[in-house]
Amino acid sequence: MAKILAVTNQKGGVGKTTTAVNLSACLAALDQRVLMIDLDPQGNGTTGCGIVKREALPTVYQILIGRSTVLEARIRTDFGFDVLPANRELAGAEVDLIDMNGREYRLRDALAPVLGEYDFVLMDCPPALNMLTVNGLAAADAVMIPMQCEYYALEGLTDLVATLKKVRAHLNPRLEIEGLLRTMFDPRSTLTQQVSGELVEHFGNKVYRTIIPRNVRLAEAPSYGKPVIAFDKQSRGAQAYSALAQELLDRRDGVVRVPAEQGVEQ
Ligand code: ADP
Ligand code: MG
Repeated sequence: MAKILAVTNQKGGVGKTTTAVNLSACLAALDQRVLMIDLDPQGNGTTGCGIVKREALPTVYQILIGRSTVLEARIRTDFGFDVLPANRELAGAEVDLIDMNGREYRLRDALAPVLGEYDFVLMDCPPALNMLTVNGLAAADAVMIPMQCEYYALEGLTDLVATLKKVRAHLNPRLEIEGLLRTMFDPRSTLTQQVSGELVEHFGNKVYRTIIPRNVRLAEAPSYGKPVIAFDKQSRGAQAYSALAQELLDRRDGVVRVPAEQGVEQ
């Protein structure tokens, strides 16, 4: 059965979409069967993997309102994984879902028939705690939280952890934190180092060992409709997301690796 991860953070611009697209591609490169779900009406995750939005109907929107199925809507990308696309229409789901029964569980129920076909389902959540994110959190086994190590990051994290507790209490008792991902990392900044240290102090091994550096190739790749490993495989961004994909598999399989700086990898 697939492991279902919601890539989420109510803050915008922290690297959710970049992570969802690039991690999907890097997991696929490691022979994992991946479905990426674009839950953001901006549809950046959809275009970022080479799908032209206006051709991308039906989308997650039709799935949520019961007019389409995952089987009908999923699209195979050129990068070895499937995508459930989104476009601006998805913004209307909020209103359309108001009167629907079980509106928090529409996505979970729609996914059930295909979970046997995938190893990972990655959901790119919008930067808000709206009904789309709630559908993502209700369907997920765990959340992956990308964050920039800056001054307000820890405060935002406290809010997010409180939200997750509520979701666990009311909607999805099995929801865990899979991990916290340090993104757009600039090791020269003292503040970044400080916040990163505090993060590890509070969350221990919930913080991924892999750090995503600030890398211009990661920012350029979406305008070519490609994940970074298909755009510049040698870039630091591509290497970092490949390492993150491997770390996810290691965690899932219980493999322990000694960090490179401390010794030879086992
Ligand atoms: P979110 O989905 O959380 O709003 P995005 O993934 O869209 O965040 O990232 C916000 C912006 O930062 C985008 O323009 C993206 O290309 C850029 N970006 C994301 N991660 C990196 C990185 N590691 N290095 C450089 N630019 C990045
Ligand atoms: Mg985004």
